[in-house]
Amino acid sequence: MSRLDSFIRRLEAQRACLATGAELVRDVPGVVLELGLGNGRTFDHLREICPARDIYVFDRQVAAHPDCIPAPERLFLGDFTETLSLALARLGRHAAAFIHVDLGSGDAAASQALARRLTPQIVALMAPGAVIVSDQAIDDPALAPLPLPPDVKPGRYFMAQRRA
Ligand code: SAM
Repeated sequence: MSRLDSFIRRLEAQRACLATGAELVRDVPGVVLELGLGNGRTFDHLREICPARDIYVFDRQVAAHPDCIPAPERLFLGDFTETLSLALARLGRHAAAFIHVDLGSGDAAASQALARRLTPQIVALMAPGAVIVSDQAIDDPALAPLPLPPDVKPGRYFMAQRRA
């Protein structure tokens, strides 16, 4: 598969998983967390599909399209390993109904190691019934893996739900 096709499929998988996740948490109260602002593509999409939710965004830098920059009070700027602790203190445990993790860099092993390191804090932020959609595998006993939407190849994206 060409790199173009692979990129397109990744984005299609991302969009399909976000749609499924947003629907699954329709009745779960809580905020949305976006880990990885990047150029703001998925943040912008989350604003569209979760219009009634407060969305908090995490990144070490703001390098997004000017139309996709979160309000300062909704932005946790800094390394995830530090800002997730700040978010826990500020928003509280179980504050999030929906979390999107999109932290991948070109280094697959480093990205997976970072996701493993962040998992306990991410899980602490999830309300019972909350859904996580992630570009990295997220394994924790408190999470039940969710089936992926049709057409999303296993391993391309990951979904799980916090057990009640
Ligand atoms: N979701 C974005 C979009 O749709 O435009 C793309 C996100 S990009 C794949 C990953 C982002 O994660 C980058 O902006 C990078 O700065 C951020 N990132 C990676 N590791 C990080 C860390 N340890 N702390 C904070 N931000 C990090």
